[in-house]
Amino acid sequence: MIKAVYPGSFDPVTLGHLDIIKRAAKVVDQLVIGILVNYVKTPLFTLEERVQMLEEVTREFPNVTVKMFNGMTVDFARENDARLIIRGLRAVTDFEYEMQIAQTNHTIDSDIDTIFFTTSLEYAFLSSTIVREVAHYNSDISKFVPPVVVEAFKKKYNHL
Ligand code: ADP
Repeated sequence: MIKAVYPGSFDPVTLGHLDIIKRAAKVVDQLVIGILVNYVKTPLFTLEERVQMLEEVTREFPNVTVKMFNGMTVDFARENDARLIIRGLRAVTDFEYEMQIAQTNHTIDSDIDTIFFTTSLEYAFLSSTIVREVAHYNSDISKFVPPVVVEAFKKKYNHL
C-alpha cells in the first residue's frame, strides 16, 4: 500500500494543482492532500473554504482525501503513515526552494522521500498568486481554476 501526502497552501486550488493530484492519484494507492495551517502570509481563503473547494474538486477520486495540518510536512506524513511527499515543479525558479525543502525533510526523516511531478506545459505559468491577482482585477479566471473556485471568488469579491 503506497500512501503519499501532497502539502501546500492551495489558496486557492488551481488547475495546475488538480493536474498534479490526478497524476499522483494514479501512481499511489492513497493520496492525502494537506492544507498548511501555519501559512506565513494571510491567506485570501479561509482554511474551511480551501478544504471545501479541494474536497469538491477531488470528489471523483476515491483514493484522495483532504486534511489540514500544522507544522512540519514530515510529521504530517508520519501521522498519515505516508513515506512519500508529492510536490509539483514548474520552472527552474521552483527548483532551488523545492530541493532545499526536500533535502531538509529527508534529513529529518530518512524514511520519507519527496517525489516531484513536472507541470503539464499548459499550467507551467500558473500559481495561486497569479490567479488571485487576475481575479482581483476582475478578469476571467475560468481557464485557470475549477468552476467551484470561480464561484468562490464571485462570492468573495462580489464582482466577477
Ligand atoms: P506552497 O505554498 O507550499 O508552495 P502551493 O499551494 O503554492 O503551496 O503549491 C503546492 C504544490 O503544488 C507545490 O509543490 C507547487 O510547486 C505545486 N504547484 C503549484 N502550481 C503548480 C502548477 N501550475 N503546476 C505544477 N505544480 C504546481
